[in-house]
Amino acid sequence: MHFKTSILTLIGLACLGAIYIWYRGNALQTSHPAQKIVISREALKDISNIVPVAVIGSGPAGLSAALYSSRMNWPTVVFEGALPGGQLTGTSDIENWPGVGIVPGPRLMKDIKEHVSSFGVRFIPQTIKQVDFSTWPYKLWTSDGQEVRALSVVVATGAYPSTLGAVGEQEYWGKGVSTCAVCDAPFYKGKVVGVVGGGDSAAEEALELASFARSVIMLVRGERMRASAIMQERIKNNSHITVRYNTKVKQVVGDGTHVTGVEITNSEKQTELLVVDGLFLGIGHKPNTELFKGQLLRNEAGYITLSGRDQATSKPCIFAAGDVVDFVYRQAGVAAGDGIRAALDADRCLEASGIDDTFVASLVSRYFNPVQPTVSVSLPTLTTSKELDSHLLNEKRLLVLDFYATYCPSCMQMLPVFEETAAQLADKAVFLKTDVGVASELAERFAVSMIPTFLIFKAGEVVGRSTEIMNKQQMIEFVEQYS
Ligand code: NDP
Repeated sequence: MHFKTSILTLIGLACLGAIYIWYRGNALQTSHPAQKIVISREALKDISNIVPVAVIGSGPAGLSAALYSSRMNWPTVVFEGALPGGQLTGTSDIENWPGVGIVPGPRLMKDIKEHVSSFGVRFIPQTIKQVDFSTWPYKLWTSDGQEVRALSVVVATGAYPSTLGAVGEQEYWGKGVSTCAVCDAPFYKGKVVGVVGGGDSAAEEALELASFARSVIMLVRGERMRASAIMQERIKNNSHITVRYNTKVKQVVGDGTHVTGVEITNSEKQTELLVVDGLFLGIGHKPNTELFKGQLLRNEAGYITLSGRDQATSKPCIFAAGDVVDFVYRQAGVAAGDGIRAALDADRCLEASGIDDTFVASLVSRYFNPVQPTVSVSLPTLTTSKELDSHLLNEKRLLVLDFYATYCPSCMQMLPVFEETAAQLADKAVFLKTDVGVASELAERFAVSMIPTFLIFKAGEVVGRSTEIMNKQQMIEFVEQYS
C-alpha cells in the first residue's frame, strides 16, 4: 500500500514536472513569439547584397540602434530616408536632451551621426521604397532600385506632420501653408501668420515665427493648450503671440498665388475670415508605416504593433523603435531608448538563431556594396534678378532654379540630389541655385514662401514649380516632363 502510494506520488510529480516544462516553453514562446529565425544555409546560397543589421531611418531611434548594433560588432547599415536626421533637424533649439544644455536640432543630429559613424556604421543616403518580409533574408529595395537582403531589421521610420484636410490647404501648400517654421519663418518678416494647434510643436512654431512676424495668432481648437507648462509660459510672455481658443480652421483662402486668410469658426459656430499671410500647422504627427502595410502588424492608427515588452514586431528578428511605435511619449529621448532596446533585441535574436561572428564573417564577400552616386557638379549661385535674366536670355535649354537656405534641413538634403541631377541632365537643362538666406530678391520676385522650391523656366517663362522632397529619379522625371 505504502509502496503503491509512493509510485502514484512519483507519477503525479513527473506529470506536474512535464506540465511545468511544457508551460514554461510555451509561456516563453508566447512572450517572445518572434525572437528566432530558422536559418537556412540554402536560403543564403546565391544571395548577394547582404546586410547583417539594416536600420531604416536616421532619427534618434535609428541612430541609437545603429550605435549599439555596430558596437556589438554587427555590420550595420543605416538607410537615411527622405529627411536624414529625422524630425529633430526641423527643431531650432532642443533643451531637454540630457547633458547637453540647449542645442539646435540639426547640430545634435550631426553630432550623433558623427559618433555613430565612428563605430563603422555605413550610411546610405537612400529611402527604402519597398520591403518583402515574407522570406528571410528580408528583402529591401532602395529608392534607386537596389535590392538588399537583411538578416535583421530595425524599423525607425518615424512620423510625419499631420495635415488638416481643410479646403484650400493643398492648393496653398508651399504658397503660404507650411509645417516647417525653422525653414520658412524668415519669409514672414513683419507679416501676420496663423499657427494651428496647441501642443509643443505648435508652440515651437509660434515662438520661431514670433522672431520674424509682426503678429502670430495661435488657433487652438479646444479650451486649453496641450503644450508643456514651460512652453505655455513662453507663449504667454511673448508680446507677438496671441492665442485664440475654441477655434477651428474651415478653409484656407488665397488670391490664387498665396494665402490671404483663413476661415475660422468658434464654439458657437460663428464664422470669421481671419486675414493672415501664412498658416503653419503643428497638429501632431502620423507614423511613417505605409511601407510596412501587409508586412508587419500595425494598429488602427498605423503604429507598428509590438508583440511583447521588447521591440519585437510580428516578424522574427525585425524590431521597431521610436515614433513608429510610440503614441504615448513621442520624445526624442524615448525614441533613442527604443532604438537601443531594438539593437539589443536584434543581437539576441541573431544569436538565438545561430548567427555568430563566424557565420557573419563567411558572408563578407557578399555584403551590400552600394553603387556609388553619380558625379555631381558645382552649380552657379545667383544673387540677383539681373543674373537670372541674363541666363534666361542666353539659354536655349530648360533652366532649373533651386531656392534653398543653409538653415533649412530639407534644402540641404535636396542640394546633392539637385547637383547629381544636374550632372546627369547636363545636355538637357541648366541648373542654378539661389540661397534665400543670403539674398531674398529672387524669392520675392517669384513669391517663394517655402523652401526648397524648384522652378523650371522654358523660353523665359516659369513652366514648372515644386516644393516636393524628391529622390534623384523623381527629380529627373520632374525636369524631363518639360523638355
Ligand atoms: P500633440 O498631439 O501633442 O498636439 C497636437 C495639437 O494639435 C493639439 O493641440 C491638438 O488639439 C491639435 N490638433 C490635432 N488635430 C487637429 C486638427 N485637425 N485641427 C486643429 N487642431 C488639431 O502633437 P505635437 O506634435 O505638438 O507633439 C507630439 C509630441 O512631441 C508631444 O509628446 C510633445 O510633447 C513632443 N514635442 C516636444 C517638444 C519639446 O520638448 N520641445 C517639441 C515638439 C513636440 P487637441 O488638444 O484638441 O487634441
